[in-house]
Amino acid sequence: MSKTVSVISKNFYKVNPDSIDEYIAAGGFEGLKKAITMKPEEIIELLNKSDLQGRGGAAFSVATKWNHAVRVSAPVKGIMCNADEGEPGTFKDRSLLEHNPFGVIEGMIIGAYVGGGSQMNHARIYIREEYTYLHGRVRNAIKQAEERGFLGNDILGTGLNIEMKVVSGAGAYVCGESSALLESTEGKAGRPRIKPPRLNNVGLYNLPTLLNNVESYSIVPILVRDDSEYRSYGTEKSIGTKMISVSGNVKKPGVYEIPFGITIREVVYDIAGGLSSERPLKFVQIGGASGAIVPASQLDTPISYEGLCEIGVAVGSGAVVVADDSNSMLDYFDSLAHFFAEESCGKCTPCREGNRQLVKIVGLMKSGKATAADFDRLVDMLGLMKGASFCGLGKTEPAPFLAAIKHFEDEVRGYFK
Ligand code: SF4
Repeated sequence: MSKTVSVISKNFYKVNPDSIDEYIAAGGFEGLKKAITMKPEEIIELLNKSDLQGRGGAAFSVATKWNHAVRVSAPVKGIMCNADEGEPGTFKDRSLLEHNPFGVIEGMIIGAYVGGGSQMNHARIYIREEYTYLHGRVRNAIKQAEERGFLGNDILGTGLNIEMKVVSGAGAYVCGESSALLESTEGKAGRPRIKPPRLNNVGLYNLPTLLNNVESYSIVPILVRDDSEYRSYGTEKSIGTKMISVSGNVKKPGVYEIPFGITIREVVYDIAGGLSSERPLKFVQIGGASGAIVPASQLDTPISYEGLCEIGVAVGSGAVVVADDSNSMLDYFDSLAHFFAEESCGKCTPCREGNRQLVKIVGLMKSGKATAADFDRLVDMLGLMKGASFCGLGKTEPAPFLAAIKHFEDEVRGYFK
């Protein structure tokens, strides 16, 4: 029996993503039509009932975020969709935009309705530069939605006004951070802002702004229309389904929708077909480059917020990257350190200088010159970055290094003489 499900992805390969008629025929915009008969508080309660947590990585309660939006009164608001998806190994939002762009737009319109700006609200879909081929598709979907009265002035007679546009990223990982994303949208360098003020008060163009990612917005119309199927999946504490992207050493890499609660082993072997090298699995990295790694001994851990939390791992971006026993921790550290050093925006010292030090230490490891004192320096540096970095990039980067040291300590220490 298939271990994948088809709720968020139900339109994939069945509904032409370039045709609003096909989307409507498949029940599209029924969620929005129902939403405008409800009070914003009722919609928030619906999201709360499903305990929908942001699917971009931070797992912040969507209901709480939308509740803030209701409480901040302003005539014009910002509605942002984070489609930057820069985590290595993460490409599930790309599939959602490719196969279901109208679902994302519908979720954003419901968000704008809940937020309640009475004048022309500014909605932006920030798509990572590498997804250039999707920009046209999403612009086409926006145009069709405008022509049918789902965007523009007085949407469906509600008095709601939305101008929606696509914005291209410029290839910076840090722009996945919400305030850096807004800076970049406004044409500035993509660096995180000092908070407070929070984005729900002062966001895009200084407007109160509601920001969610692609998958989160895609789920909203499904829940509003009829949440019964979505809620029939998952666990008590992780309701529903999750889009994941599986890559690395597997026979069938790709994007899959899974019910929360199936194990990492089921994803690797039953869904992704096992390791393409036919060698023993060494570890799986969950949640992107800054996600912790899980050794083979923990493969029976359920993929759920509570299941992964028990072993100190977060669901994160939904990336599942598989490595076999031919991958050394030295190569792993090398690729991590160079990636983060390249992507650090340089705004704060712990991350900027910490990454330079990590690259140096990995260089010593590679040349066989690293000492026990360098190992202590590495661990100190990771602790400092975790505690003192300005944004999530520097704060979460130590997780994979520390998990590698925890699970493969003998191998890692072997690189320090
Ligand atoms: S932690 Fe600091 S240097 Fe690193 S990306 Fe964030 S703001 Fe920039």
